[in-house]
Amino acid sequence: MARYGQTYKVAEFISKLVPRKRTILKNDQNYIHSCINFLMQLDLCQEDHPFVTFSFSAADGLWVYYKGESIGFIKPTQKYLFLHVFEKNHLSKKIDAQKKHFQKLVETSYAHKQWHIGVNEMDWLVDYFSGRPRPSGKQSFLSEKKHPRYIPGHIRQAALDDFLASGRQCPGVGIMPHKVPQKEAIEFDHIMPHSEGGPNTYSNIQVLCKKCNRTKGASAR
Ligand SMILES: [Zn+2]
Repeated sequence: MARYGQTYKVAEFISKLVPRKRTILKNDQNYIHSCINFLMQLDLCQEDHPFVTFSFSAADGLWVYYKGESIGFIKPTQKYLFLHVFEKNHLSKKIDAQKKHFQKLVETSYAHKQWHIGVNEMDWLVDYFSGRPRPSGKQSFLSEKKHPRYIPGHIRQAALDDFLASGRQCPGVGIMPHKVPQKEAIEFDHIMPHSEGGPNTYSNIQVLCKKCNRTKGASAR
């Protein structure tokens, strides 16, 4: 599947991490390698969990979505990654409860918090997004079962990008296309139902609001 723009955004993300005006020191190099490894690990998390989707934005970095709702983003600056988390969501609460993993909190003036992501924090985040319970922590927010009609992470990412680019338009099932409010849950839908042989490919996957997906599911029976 050709996702030309996506490749560019990934390259831009990495390039923002590389200090421009001086030679790259050994430490910087190690950190950049850790960041690249971190991105690869996040992609594996996405493959394993139908509710977690990551999407690159040229302006902000890597957005983190849980069930289609943005919960934060990872911003590259020259040399470091920063995690921005919107206040009052599960990730923000989890980090507050695990402060020892995120000591370098940089408070920001608006509605989210920002943390510096060191190598240890990368490990913690990978564990968190992959739903591995930490010894000290309670059950992960990802403890739900895997979706039976499993859709690969990069396909969900592409469908989510299209949905966001359209201004959160749901095509509508039995009703007109409509805008889905930020806080409302979305679901990934097989345009031709999976039960009728519809494949898990980009051209057959779309985003529907939860209501429309229920309507569609009910009419298929
Ligand atoms: Zn809808």
